[in-house]
Amino acid sequence: MTQSGRHAQTVIKNANIITIDPRTPKASSLAISDGKFIAIGDNTACDSLIGPDTEVLNLSGKTVLPGFIDAHIHVLNSGIRHVMAADCDLPNIPLIQQALRDRIKETLPGGWIQGFKFDDTKTQEKRFLFKSDLDAVTTEYPIMVAHRAGHIYYLNSTALAAANFDDNTPDPPGGRLGRDPDTGGLNGVVYERAIEPIRFGLIPPETPDIRQKGLITICKMLNQVGLTSVHDARVIQTEFDAYQNGLDNAELTLRVYALMYHPHFEALKNAGIKTGFGNEFLRIGGIKMIADGAIAARTAYISEPYIGSDCDHGILAMTQEEIETNVINMHNAGFQVCIHANGDLTIDMVLDSYMKAQKLNPRTDTRHRIEHCSLVNPDILRKMRESNTIATPFCTYVYHHGEKMPFFGEERLKWMFAQKSFLDYGITSTGATDYPPGPFEPLLGIQSCVTRTDSNGKTWGVEQQISVDEALKIYTLNGAYASFEENIKGSITEGKLADLVILSDDPRTVDPNTIKDIPVERTILGGNTVFEK
Ligand SMILES: [Zn+2]
Repeated sequence: MTQSGRHAQTVIKNANIITIDPRTPKASSLAISDGKFIAIGDNTACDSLIGPDTEVLNLSGKTVLPGFIDAHIHVLNSGIRHVMAADCDLPNIPLIQQALRDRIKETLPGGWIQGFKFDDTKTQEKRFLFKSDLDAVTTEYPIMVAHRAGHIYYLNSTALAAANFDDNTPDPPGGRLGRDPDTGGLNGVVYERAIEPIRFGLIPPETPDIRQKGLITICKMLNQVGLTSVHDARVIQTEFDAYQNGLDNAELTLRVYALMYHPHFEALKNAGIKTGFGNEFLRIGGIKMIADGAIAARTAYISEPYIGSDCDHGILAMTQEEIETNVINMHNAGFQVCIHANGDLTIDMVLDSYMKAQKLNPRTDTRHRIEHCSLVNPDILRKMRESNTIATPFCTYVYHHGEKMPFFGEERLKWMFAQKSFLDYGITSTGATDYPPGPFEPLLGIQSCVTRTDSNGKTWGVEQQISVDEALKIYTLNGAYASFEENIKGSITEGKLADLVILSDDPRTVDPNTIKDIPVERTILGGNTVFEK
């Protein structure tokens, strides 16, 4: 018996159901009522639950999986940027200049022209944007373009002047101002925290209307690829507000675990809020901090210098002391701590802080996380195991960012995005893409983790290949674990939330190099269809 009567709302039959539940890994039918799975079994197991009002989906052997979970993705911020910034994922600089020029008519006097997803390695010119490129677009409006990886930004002269950056400005702490090697003058490139006064000061926050449009846009984009849950990797006040409005207006078609940006920590703590507050649609997650640079921008802080340089170790954005003080405060206040750390040196500093905080004040089940956790070694892996730290490595990078891998080199790639090592050491790792830096399609992420092969067919770090079954669990149940929700979602199990995705084919039986091409037929969230092909 269910609340709404004897009959199920939906029954799926003749399906290849991969449950990710070790007790019953395979099934052919399932029934949904009141937003939850109420029965799972062989092809006739749910027949008695079919009534006159039951929607019956006969899948003719198609594959059903729990809805995918991306445990590190910039959700609402990307949605907003899709609405108000130029998408600079274009093949050459003239096209990028045109895309920025097209924004001028949409921009009010005094406003900023913005671009995102610029990637120097993907353009024909294979170089950064400089202020001269952007001055050629306009000097009437300030321009800020973000690298696809974040962490590096490109400004025109007007934007540099607005920020009071001139040729004599010293590099601010935790950041760097790019300079012309001949003249020493600013070239318009701004690294890491040097951008903060612009991004969080000079650029006016977007309007609530834009945020709402952004939310609807991104929910649709992510539902289309089978995502039902996301961990938004940096949520600020205006965004949490928009999520809450989206929830009230039934526009939120993703379950959101909000990693709150660290400046909000004190206010949350003072309000008595901690990790886990909220409901199954919108929850306060961990506190997010950033300790070093980015992989795709080649600014991660690593022990051995980047290939082609004998001194470039990347950029450290927080000191050991800063990391430790913050971790201890957040740990003591009952929060999960989520620190962005890509390079091995940074990861080690963060782990030492997690272990120190736990030693000073032992808490059960903290599940602190290292966001990205890109470059590891056996010592790091042992510490992660010991401290039960979760990793959220980039899953789509090997496939998408193959041309950046030579900066790290073959040897180092054996220890990067180390899904196999995490499994071997008993560390929970998740499916994560960090979109916009990486493409967000979970099937692409699964393929990339399984094949470790880039879009040109070159394989990187074959030692870290995992099986499709392992990748599916990483993209579902492990994501639920990373938000303390493994008891309510992440597998097709009686009583869990009815979040699922229907695929045309089984990722375990197709050629692994074509997993990304399997069509997503339908995405169901809490029993309701949120995407249908
Ligand atoms: Zn991120």
